[in-house]
Amino acid sequence: MRDYLQEYGIERYINAHDTITLYGASRMAESTLEAVRQVSGCFVDIVQMQRALGERIAAMTHNEAAYIANCAAGALQLCAAVCMAGDSEAAYRRLPDTTGLCSEIIVLHAQHNCYDKAVEAAGARVRIVGDADETLPFMLEDGITEATAAVLYCPASIYRRGSLPLKEVVRIAHARGIPVIVDAAAQLPPRENLWAFTQAGADMTVFSGGKTLCGPQTSGLIVGTRAMIDRCIRFGAPMHGICRSAKASRESMIGLCAAIESYMAQDAQQEKVRLGAMVDRLVEVMCRYPIYSPYRVEQGSVGQDYPRAFAHLECGVTAKEMAAYMRSRRIFIGTDERENTLYISPLNLTEQECGEVCAALADAGARWAGGAVL
Ligand SMILES: *Cc1c(COP(=O)(O)O)cnc(C)c1O
Repeated sequence: MRDYLQEYGIERYINAHDTITLYGASRMAESTLEAVRQVSGCFVDIVQMQRALGERIAAMTHNEAAYIANCAAGALQLCAAVCMAGDSEAAYRRLPDTTGLCSEIIVLHAQHNCYDKAVEAAGARVRIVGDADETLPFMLEDGITEATAAVLYCPASIYRRGSLPLKEVVRIAHARGIPVIVDAAAQLPPRENLWAFTQAGADMTVFSGGKTLCGPQTSGLIVGTRAMIDRCIRFGAPMHGICRSAKASRESMIGLCAAIESYMAQDAQQEKVRLGAMVDRLVEVMCRYPIYSPYRVEQGSVGQDYPRAFAHLECGVTAKEMAAYMRSRRIFIGTDERENTLYISPLNLTEQECGEVCAALADAGARWAGGAVL
């Protein structure tokens, strides 16, 4: 069998960092790959496929309707576009020219992040409200004007301190007839999040298909109200206009649907135990060497419900050196240089890969024993 990576001179790594896009994010299950392979050989009416898979995903995730885009960023672009265009196809087709349209999308200062560019990519202007460490209800109310098209909300735990609760944002926005878009790209597990934001009143919620859902890297999901999703289907790819660049292939669409089926069928408790066992293994190995002060963290980087292994680095070993060493072993790990810690997510590890990571950690522990490089 051909080894494509070797043939083309691309190195193969173990991803012990997390669902990081730069490293490929996640792995598709065999059943997902089988669905992709099968559909790839067939021609379909993409709009019919979008509707049929959307219905299926909506039913599985307790939502009214769903749309599949090329990634969460593409999905956010489309959400912004349909909020600005309303029901007007003509207005949609003029985007990113927003002349005469409500084109401001409100973002809480505490949640302002690099993915907000995705709504600007539709032609929207981001309007920041509140302070970095505090948003009071009147600040959001004051930010809503004649120009407001939507509020964009990111429920990542790292932003919680300075944010308003989603329900409060929905209450304020809906009172003025403004839709709320939730960027929940990485907020899984728990899988209940697939419907929790909708139930809290979000008009559209976006998830990345290629992160914990383990769908194709080039897939993204919008779940939401039928009215909003109908607009996504009417205006979004494969139609022409600004979001043509958010086009999902039939492979991505079927792959995401199959991945969501697997995700919903999974025994969540059993999966957590499986991941926890790997984390315990990693922590136990690190316990044997003085360069690590290891501990277990029960959340992902934005508050998701899965365990990770952490270690504060001791004996003068720096996070940078550790990352470089692991990289030389063809392993990606997470590091925090300010805290001088390393962290490892079990999400993308097989049992065997976990063993390889343990071996590399042990070798690093022996190498820097007592601070001296042996
Ligand atoms: C990862 C991420 C995205 C982008 O997801 P893609 O599917 O890679 O486009 C957007 N928003 C947040 C908060 C994310 O974590």
